[in-house]
Amino acid sequence: MGKILQIGAGGVGTVVAHKLAQNADVFSEIVLASRTISKCEAIVAEVKRRTGVTIKTAQVDADSVEDLVKLFRAEKPELVINVALPYQDLTIMDACLECGVNYLDTANYEPKDEAKFEYSWQWAYREKFEKAGLTAILGCGFDPGVTSVFTAYAAKHYFDEIHYLDIVDCNAGNHGKAFATNFNPEINIREVSQRGKYWENGAWVETNPHEIHKPLTYPEIGQRESYVIYHEELESLVKNFPTIKRARFWMTFGQEYLTHLRVIQNIGMARIDEVDYNGVKIVPIQFLKAVLPDPGDLGENYTGETSIGCRIRGVKNSKEKTYYVYNNCKHQDAFAETGAQGVSYTTGVPAMIGAMMFMKGIWRKAGVYNVEEFNPDPFMEELNRHGLPWHEVFDGDLEV
Ligand code: NDP
Repeated sequence: MGKILQIGAGGVGTVVAHKLAQNADVFSEIVLASRTISKCEAIVAEVKRRTGVTIKTAQVDADSVEDLVKLFRAEKPELVINVALPYQDLTIMDACLECGVNYLDTANYEPKDEAKFEYSWQWAYREKFEKAGLTAILGCGFDPGVTSVFTAYAAKHYFDEIHYLDIVDCNAGNHGKAFATNFNPEINIREVSQRGKYWENGAWVETNPHEIHKPLTYPEIGQRESYVIYHEELESLVKNFPTIKRARFWMTFGQEYLTHLRVIQNIGMARIDEVDYNGVKIVPIQFLKAVLPDPGDLGENYTGETSIGCRIRGVKNSKEKTYYVYNNCKHQDAFAETGAQGVSYTTGVPAMIGAMMFMKGIWRKAGVYNVEEFNPDPFMEELNRHGLPWHEVFDGDLEV
């Protein structure tokens, strides 16, 4: 149906490559490019062994528009799926505009020197993509991604007005390491150590990191202490669903994880500015990444499961209603299918489905869009088919 170029060969990239290959009827040609070509080659060999599908590889520095343009001109893909790091979003979008290529990512742009997540930089490309007749699909992982589609699905089918939205993200897995992050450590630590923030009555309310917390009950898992943190989909969801009075994001953390995180911060290892070490400039958090376990390698002994969903309260026909929609994903199942753990899997599968929506012409309109701005129904159907089945609870106790 169409040629796709994937950029990024980490944990999420491993899953995306497997899933693209499993759907070779839609993705008729696949190219995997990243900074370190040996990582692409290792993934491609494994994909070939499991699916029989051949994927071409290429080396690219996605910080360089020039390098990207050269690759896009040589390969002429219809869509680029960006699962490198958020730092590369804008260079890849620039190259897409220059070469007439459509775009999809899973995380919003962040400048390297400031831990600041917001869509303003990418939303600023809307007119340029419109004029070029190109589609850019933003935030198509699990959260953001599936959680945003869940919200759109709830708004479409079950509510006249959504009033309260609580996105709940539990990882009840055990990887057997003292400390490891489930996706890129630099991005992950920047995200979870920042100040908390949620939306209430038309304004953002800031909190100290992890200040608000309570135990929440997750299906098949039980109670886990859950913490309000800021998460990027809140920004687009409150804009696209303006009836929302309060929107929060809750994530579970174990005590061990929080203790390690506090120590890492207290001793300066979470710093994102350059320091001089024996005449060499290093960024402590980048050095830390080099010594922490690679999230892509956590899968083998990872047990337990993730449970991520949306707990929603609102009104339908003037009556108050609650709705909870969620997916549970077992780390071991993800590993058996793709060689990657559950967090990479829950991000990579929706990225492939978003790309499929584009290739089939279902999610295709000129401009820059967050996923909740498209029809959620066909995406929801594909989640059930491709390894992330979802479940619904009507009028239950949301606990929040
Ligand atoms: P990894 O660190 O495992 O992988 C990142 C990949 O990008 C690596 O292959 C890396 O190359 C490559 N890369 C980095 N910089 C460049 C560059 N300048 N040029 C080319 N390639 C580059 O990260 P993850 O796989 O864990 O995460 C990937 C993305 O998914 C991130 O943006 C993350 O924020 C997002 N994510 C989204 C989630 C969601 O639910 N929406 C959840 C989890 C992650 P190299 O091998 O050389 O380092």
